[in-house]
Amino acid sequence: MDTIAEAIGKIEKLKIETTRRCPLSIKHTKCPVAILNKEFNDSLDVEVLFSFLQKMIDYGCKAQILLYMYNEPSVDCKLSYIIHYIRDHMGITNHVMFDTNGWGLDEQTIRMLFDIGLDRIVITGYTDEEYQRFKNIKEKLFSDESFDRTKKILNVRAVSDEHTQSKMSMVETYSVFKLDERLDYYKAGEGQLCNVNISDFSCVKLDTLLCVSATGEVTMCEYDWKQTVSFGNLYKDSLEDIITNKIKFNDRAYKQSILPDVCTRCVHYYGLRKTNEQ
Ligand code: SF4
Repeated sequence: MDTIAEAIGKIEKLKIETTRRCPLSIKHTKCPVAILNKEFNDSLDVEVLFSFLQKMIDYGCKAQILLYMYNEPSVDCKLSYIIHYIRDHMGITNHVMFDTNGWGLDEQTIRMLFDIGLDRIVITGYTDEEYQRFKNIKEKLFSDESFDRTKKILNVRAVSDEHTQSKMSMVETYSVFKLDERLDYYKAGEGQLCNVNISDFSCVKLDTLLCVSATGEVTMCEYDWKQTVSFGNLYKDSLEDIITNKIKFNDRAYKQSILPDVCTRCVHYYGLRKTNEQ
């Protein structure tokens, strides 16, 4: 079994939901945030977050820091404070980034976020107008010689889903995906998304990802949005206990193929995984 330092060393992505708020959750009623917000609509305490990050640093964490999960990070008034902390305390390998629906972002705020240390933003335009607005901002930024485009990444993409009434006309979409597919992961027996031979499971995300929700819950994977697998909670458990629980869980998953339901239906697994058809 891994030691705590070895397990933390394997984590490549640390997803942190600093707040669970999202203005679009009123419209996107099937989004996990809209469903989870009925029970909880608050933010992660920064002191709790910083103490967790400091301990991760002490154990040599080199993970990228992704400041989003299901939430909209740009509505968090602590966002720039958190980015500052990460840049001041973590190393250059700890790239900091987030995905956003662009809420409240304009050219100035995007420049400011890059200036204080954000490395990457992925903006999803939910309407033609929003998509075009951010394409224009990107063009302007990247044609400005004072902007360091060798180090900063700004991706703009469009989304097409059952909620957006907009007729998506853009051709330059970074990716087009369907929202809410995560809701299907828990529907046992309803035409499985993936016909898995459990004994061949080897999703590397179990090792390489750690998620922290706005409630302080430390979980296996963002696709388990109901948080059926939790290793502990930042408000009451030590980092050592949380990582020990993760190590034991991974051991059972990899060696004994004991998996949560969500993994058996998930189509976002990484690494080798054979299906029954193969
Ligand atoms: S199989 Fe899917 S839900 Fe399970 S850990 Fe991998 S990506 Fe996450």
